[in-house]
Amino acid sequence: MSIEVRHLTHTYGEGSAISTVALDDVSFAIEPGEFIGIVGHTGSGKSTLVQHLNGLLKPTSGQVLVDGQDLNGEGVNRRALRQRIGLVFQYPEYQLFEETVAKDIAFGPKNQGLSSEEIDRRVRKAMDSVHLDYAKYAEQSPFELSGGQMRRVAIAGVLAMEPEVLILDEPTAGLDPRGRDRILSMLEELRAKDHTTILMVSHSMEDMARLATRLLVISEGKLVADGSPREVFARRDLMTSIGLDIPESAKLCAALRAAGYDLPADLYRPEELKEQLLRLWKEASAC
Ligand code: ADP
Ligand code: MG
Repeated sequence: MSIEVRHLTHTYGEGSAISTVALDDVSFAIEPGEFIGIVGHTGSGKSTLVQHLNGLLKPTSGQVLVDGQDLNGEGVNRRALRQRIGLVFQYPEYQLFEETVAKDIAFGPKNQGLSSEEIDRRVRKAMDSVHLDYAKYAEQSPFELSGGQMRRVAIAGVLAMEPEVLILDEPTAGLDPRGRDRILSMLEELRAKDHTTILMVSHSMEDMARLATRLLVISEGKLVADGSPREVFARRDLMTSIGLDIPESAKLCAALRAAGYDLPADLYRPEELKEQLLRLWKEASAC
């Protein structure tokens, strides 16, 4: 499945005294298998953007094309498309409501009219994907779980629809480091095993450095950078000017370069920085 965003503009409250241009002429295309990170300051338009990708919001102007078809065009089955493009909202655990974990995850597949065997298969698979033991948790109330577990139940509810594209709006927000790491490793596995295309909105540049194959940088509703994490994190001035950070490894590398150390300009991952520092250390001890 391919998604193309063409000249997308979205204005909230158009024509009223309090209208806000949340997205301004945004264009990009998503290829299958990518892990796209969407970064930007609070209020830059990230949530507005992702809600256009599965048709929850309609463009004020511009288009979202799915496999070449205008998502908001005549005769398009938006409900079917929403199943193929799964969206996990911010704080999705607030939307849990069933009395057991299994029932909550089964809600989407049930609405799709699938057989009970297929629903059961999907619930088990989705729970496995988010690392929740079926025997232990299926019959528990979601409200008895920890915050991180509740969030994983909510994500499993979207995975149970078996989407080809999974979009997550700040999936690690408010979790402790352990809860955060569980979500990130789960996403890594999902992409490796099921080849799911993933788009993730996040504030954490460390998370992006670990996972993203490509970054979209949004500022005041405009797409100001679109490239590999290596390219984007090397543009430190741009990132700083729009109030964004770069990964700690990239910062440390820049500081060492400024102090005269012979390091590549575009390092941003802890492992590659470590490798380069070991090289320098070996060279120094050989002298
Ligand atoms: P982000 O997710 O990057 O924080 P949003 O997409 O939520 O940004 O918001 C972009 C802009 O649109 C902000 O100025 C925000 O105040 C405004 N906005 C978001 N949702 C609404 C809404 N439902 N009604 C009016 N304005 C909104
Ligand atoms: Mg948001």
